[in-house]
Amino acid sequence: MNDEKWDWRERDTPAHCAWCGTETSKLFNTTAMPADEEYRGNAQIISRKPRPYHLAVHDLRLNRGTYRAFRYGAFCKLRCAEAFANAAHDAGYRVDAK
Ligand SMILES: [Zn+2]
Repeated sequence: MNDEKWDWRERDTPAHCAWCGTETSKLFNTTAMPADEEYRGNAQIISRKPRPYHLAVHDLRLNRGTYRAFRYGAFCKLRCAEAFANAAHDAGYRVDAK
């Protein structure tokens, strides 16, 4: 049984911020499973640790070679979107208001 829930922002390649160029990080996921059970999912196990005070449960940190997308579309931070918008404005770009 595989009940892993991966982030909807998962993507195959790293994204780069359109303003500052920052690269998105790898996407990690955590899941819990019984200590005596072998992990059979298709992700790579980064770490597997007994949960404190619940040693029958193991917490797994997983990665399957994917990356996270930015929260703000093409930008890593709202500040980058703001800077880009102002630079575009200063360069003469305008929303076509009729
Ligand atoms: Zn940025």
